[in-house]
Amino acid sequence: MTLPRTADVVIIGGGVMGASTAYHLALRGQKNILLIEKDEFFGQGATGRCAGGVRYQFSTEINVRLSLQSLPMLERFKDEIGQEISFRKCGYLFVLTKPDDVKIFRHSLELQQNLGVHTEWLSPDEIHRRLPLMRFEDALAGSFNPGDGLVDPNSVVMGYIGAAQRMGVDCLNNVEVINIQVVGGKIVALETNQGTIHTQVIVNAAGPWAGLIGQMAGVEIPIIPYRRQIVTTSPLSEVPQDFPFVLDFAQSLYFHREGDGILTGMSNLNEKAGFDQTVDEDFELVNLEAAIARMPCLEKAGLLSHWAGLYEVTPDAHPIYGKTPVEGLYIVAGFSGHGFMHGPISGKLMAECILDGKFQSQDVSMLDLARFKEGRQIREYNVV
Ligand SMILES: Cc1cc2nc3c(=O)[nH]c(=O)nc-3n(C[C@H](O)[C@H](O)[C@H](O)COP(=O)(O)OP(=O)(O)OC[C@H]3O[C@@H](n4cnc5c(N)ncnc54)[C@H](O)[C@@H]3O)c2cc1C
Repeated sequence: MTLPRTADVVIIGGGVMGASTAYHLALRGQKNILLIEKDEFFGQGATGRCAGGVRYQFSTEINVRLSLQSLPMLERFKDEIGQEISFRKCGYLFVLTKPDDVKIFRHSLELQQNLGVHTEWLSPDEIHRRLPLMRFEDALAGSFNPGDGLVDPNSVVMGYIGAAQRMGVDCLNNVEVINIQVVGGKIVALETNQGTIHTQVIVNAAGPWAGLIGQMAGVEIPIIPYRRQIVTTSPLSEVPQDFPFVLDFAQSLYFHREGDGILTGMSNLNEKAGFDQTVDEDFELVNLEAAIARMPCLEKAGLLSHWAGLYEVTPDAHPIYGKTPVEGLYIVAGFSGHGFMHGPISGKLMAECILDGKFQSQDVSMLDLARFKEGRQIREYNVV
């Protein structure tokens, strides 16, 4: 397909945010939508490299409320979109080993319960009983929600892209935005490696690259990319089918069942900002040693695959939604390493923002770009 020369709305980025926004705009009747993705396939950015975890367990009301809307949309996905997404409710079990974390998670649990989320508080004995394969002698407490779980990211992206295309949205790969033309404070066009597209509305859904798109339009967007990586193992017969998504919160170390083996990841808190997506093998060893110390049976497993991707980190670990100082330039990005799960509701909110001029399903107006300059940040604590 050749690149159209005009469009009513251009969405930059074919990850979960761009795909969901395209689908929800089309569902609302918007015509002449163009989604462009620089890679050869959709969903190969942060979305395709993520761990697929979906959870209600957050420390801020706005994030819990986003999950309360988004996770049921994932549950209904097959009926609504016609695509199986392998939603597996295995639960997230945060294991806490530091007194400060216990205090903050206890407070978050109350917040979640007040919002109708049934998170359970676990004693150390209960943790040992639920995780007989793991060593958590230093556990002080745990926080478990049986409604949290795992979803296949690629199926969600391709489900939304396919449904958007069926409603007439043009979704193109191998098209890279290289410049944005702004005249008199308004969007007039964008330049790509395949030519210029005239438009008055652009949605910046470029994930870890969203700051670069902002620069093209002269808008400062504080989203910093940080490499994060994952390892998967060969089958381990002792890992039960219902093994939860386990997080050793103090070490930013996590485990979940992947196929018949284990997927483990760990955040390198000394990682420098940058776009490098090659695996740091030295840090992989740190991850594996820490993982084996917690789960000794991993020692006998083989390594199946590994990869690195980018977190898209904002100063307060919350996303940025809505308008920017340039008229016609919108943003939905900066989900700080937990955005896959909020993709469904975020696309719906962006469709409302563009077509109705305000967020209808959930008020996320406090998560605007202006908050960073105006000192209105609210910090999310449950970042892995
Ligand atoms: C290792 C890892 C584990 C994670 N685990 C989880 C998890 O368990 N649960 C969870 O909810 N989240 C998780 N995340 C975070 C999650 O992946 C992101 O928050 C989410 O996928 C962001 O989606 P996005 O659409 O904004 O970005 P992306 O998926 O990165 O999409 C942006 C797209 O824009 C394209 N693009 C960029 N620049 C241009 C340009 N100039 N022209 C055209 N196209 C362009 C990119 O190629 C990319 O495809 C994890 C992330 C990583 C890296």
